[in-house]
Amino acid sequence: MERTEIPNIIEVFRKTSGWNRVPPEKALRSDIAGMEMFSPALVGISSAEDPAFLLLKREGVVGPQFLLPREWLPGARSVVSFFLPFTARVREANAESGLEPAQEWLHGRIEGQEFIDRLSLALVERLREEGGDAVSPSVDERFASCTVRNTVFLDGNGTPFPVTFTSNWSERHVAFICGLGTFGLSRGLITSRGVAGRFGSVITTLPMTPDNVVPEDLYGNCTLCGECAAKCPAGAISLEKGKNHVLCAEYLDLMKEKHSPRYGCGKCQVGIPCESAVPEKHGG
Ligand code: SF4
Ligand code: SF4
Repeated sequence: MERTEIPNIIEVFRKTSGWNRVPPEKALRSDIAGMEMFSPALVGISSAEDPAFLLLKREGVVGPQFLLPREWLPGARSVVSFFLPFTARVREANAESGLEPAQEWLHGRIEGQEFIDRLSLALVERLREEGGDAVSPSVDERFASCTVRNTVFLDGNGTPFPVTFTSNWSERHVAFICGLGTFGLSRGLITSRGVAGRFGSVITTLPMTPDNVVPEDLYGNCTLCGECAAKCPAGAISLEKGKNHVLCAEYLDLMKEKHSPRYGCGKCQVGIPCESAVPEKHGG
C-alpha cells in the first residue's frame, strides 16, 4: 500500500462515516447535535524497527512497560500515527467557558475518542484487506494504562513492576517518533496544527516508506511562554517543574464527578500560542 493512501482513507472516514459528528441523541445541547469534532488529520509513518522506539522503554520516558511495535505485532514493518485537530468550534468554546470544560469539548473528548477508536479499527480492517496484518494498540485487548499511583504492570518479559500515570503504548510518544511534533511544557505534543486534538496509531506488517524525522530537540516547538500554566485551573503546570500529573488527574476526577459520564478539561490546550500552530519564537 502506498503511504499516500493512508491520509485519504482517514479523510474519507472523517467526512463520510458519520462518527465525526455529535449524535443528536447524545448532544448536551440541541445546537451541538451534528457538530463536527475534528478537522483533517496529520499523518506520520515510521519503520516499526526505528531505534527511537527502544528509547521509550527507558524509565522516565514511557517506561519498561512500553511494548515495541513488534511486541504488539510480530513481523511489524510500519507504524502509522495520526493527529486529529479539534475544529475551531470545539477549541473556541473551551477557550471561552471559564474554568469549566465547554460542552463542545466534553463531546470532543468522549464522542471524539469513540470516533478515533472506530477510525483505528477501520484502518486495521483496510490494512488487512490489503494483505497485511495490523493492530491498533489503544483499542487492542492488551492495552493497559493507569491513572493512579502504583499500579502493577508487566514488562515485555512478563515481569511485574509498579508504575504511575503511564501505559504500555503512548500515542504522543509514538507521534513524536513518527515526526508529528515535539512536546510542550504542558506535556502535549505541539504539531504543525497545534496541540489541541487527539492522536491514534496503527501498526502493520505492510511495508511503507517512512517519512519521519525524529526531532533532536524534545521541546523544539515550545517557546516556554508559560501561557498553558497560566490557563490551568488546577495549578498543575509550572515553568520550573513542568506538569504535575497528580494535580491534573485530581482535577479531571472532579470534572468527572460534575459531568459524568463525560469528563475533560483541556484548558492548557486552548487560548494559547500553540493551540492550532507551532508558535513563533521571538528574540534570539
Ligand atoms: S503555551 Fe507556551 S509554554 Fe505552554 S506548551 Fe505552548 S508554547 Fe509551550
Ligand atoms: S488538562 Fe486541565 S488540569 Fe490538566 S494540566 Fe491541562 S489545564 Fe491543567
